[in-house]
Amino acid sequence: MDSALPDGFTGYDPKPQCSEDAVRDGCGVCGLFVPGEDVARATYFALYALQHRGQESAGIAVSDGRELRCYKQMGLLSQVFTEDILSGLPGYLSVGHTRYSTTGSSVVYNAQPLLTKTPVQSFALAHNGNLVNTEALRDQFPEDQARAAGSDSEVMARMIAEFSSGNIESRIVDVMQRCIGAFSIVLATETQLFGFRDPWGIRPLCVGRYGDGWMLASESCALNTVGAEFVREVEPGEIIIIDKLGMRSRSIETGNKAANCIFEYIYFSRPDTTFKGHELYLARYRMGRAIAREAPAAADVVIGVPDSATAAAIGFADESGLPYIEGLMKNRYIGRTFISPDQNMRAQGVKLKFNPLIANLKGKRIVLVDDSIVRGTTTRQIVSLLRRSGASQVHVRITSPPMRHPCFLGVDTATYDQLIAASHSVPEICQTIGADSLGYLSQEGLVEATGRPRTDFCMGCFTGTYPEGIHEQLTGKVRELAEIAP
Ligand code: AMP
Repeated sequence: MDSALPDGFTGYDPKPQCSEDAVRDGCGVCGLFVPGEDVARATYFALYALQHRGQESAGIAVSDGRELRCYKQMGLLSQVFTEDILSGLPGYLSVGHTRYSTTGSSVVYNAQPLLTKTPVQSFALAHNGNLVNTEALRDQFPEDQARAAGSDSEVMARMIAEFSSGNIESRIVDVMQRCIGAFSIVLATETQLFGFRDPWGIRPLCVGRYGDGWMLASESCALNTVGAEFVREVEPGEIIIIDKLGMRSRSIETGNKAANCIFEYIYFSRPDTTFKGHELYLARYRMGRAIAREAPAAADVVIGVPDSATAAAIGFADESGLPYIEGLMKNRYIGRTFISPDQNMRAQGVKLKFNPLIANLKGKRIVLVDDSIVRGTTTRQIVSLLRRSGASQVHVRITSPPMRHPCFLGVDTATYDQLIAASHSVPEICQTIGADSLGYLSQEGLVEATGRPRTDFCMGCFTGTYPEGIHEQLTGKVRELAEIAP
């Protein structure tokens, strides 16, 4: 970091330390190119709309056509950026990032965008996703540099900067062909904005018009928020190039079939985001209807775990004829970062996040709809909270199938030993979470609710089969995790 810069402002990031625990992260990314306007503020609000994709750190890099400046820090957007900081980022071209991770990597060093210099120019890169061949790529670096490039994002940045040739566009093409896994990336040079998506299209990325300029974002909800107009999704394997000549696109050919992450439909994306022209809200509503058909419950009322399961709970209620009520109030301003990691506070986790509406719960047989069970810890705490609030029965309905396999591609869903469904049957899970009954949505029911064909999706977390071209490439640490499947 340049010592002349105030805290949080970064110069180039030339000497990253190895950060093993940066292996898993989901994230939100966005970028703007609006000649004649300062875009830092719009970038900030776009990231605000993507805050659900990551709450650990936030960063924005802006170029005025001559110089790229970057500010990033730990925390929620609202904690990281102030008026003064945004005014210290003048320019018409930006990229932004919100980072999500759960394990031990809560350090500003892992925050993005990564600011890097090539022999001819600088760039700032913001990455959502996870590569699975990071180690193999790193092995191709000279020894001293291999140690220096820690995370997959750093490896990509270094490859673009140092181990490819030609202009930045051809460097990106080269790196896209060598990287295996999930990457939806926005990259800003001093004068150009790029958005590119891995050939499987695992994580989302879309492009829109912002006035006379352009905007890229992980989800369409970020475009709407700042008044941009959605144009289309970036296609798998596509590179969007935006500069003073306008927007153009090219694609890399890999022969790999698209495999969008179905967990974006279930949990990760915001329900007002659209994929393939449909709001996710509708898909989640249909998931709720489907689980009500597949696993009906004799109960008095239906509640959802806010916010991700609200649409599904309404769907369950509509299909079953049971009334939908609010049972839990969510404290929306609790960020993960500021929940102290000590055991005592962790045990309070659910209480800090949800407060029961006792009048709605007392003496009732409750259907509790949620989108997924990963470790089972939160679900158990919520069931117990409902019982302590007077619920006479709690029937848990999950709008996805049992999650039996880890995700290596950007949703932080643990290792086999942490996934409750990898080692427990449904009745055992029911007992562990303390529910009266437990029902999971079938794979078929889930796919049908998306309105898209099964072949469009990666469902590796449910099936253990990852997309062709990735499954057989899992290497190193990732391979070890894959091989200890029970
Ligand atoms: P647990 O019972 O501890 O497995 O937690 C289940 C809850 O975690 C559900 O309410 C999900 O919405 C939520 N969830 C699912 N996937 C993730 C994820 N990748 N990060 C954080 N929360 C998640």
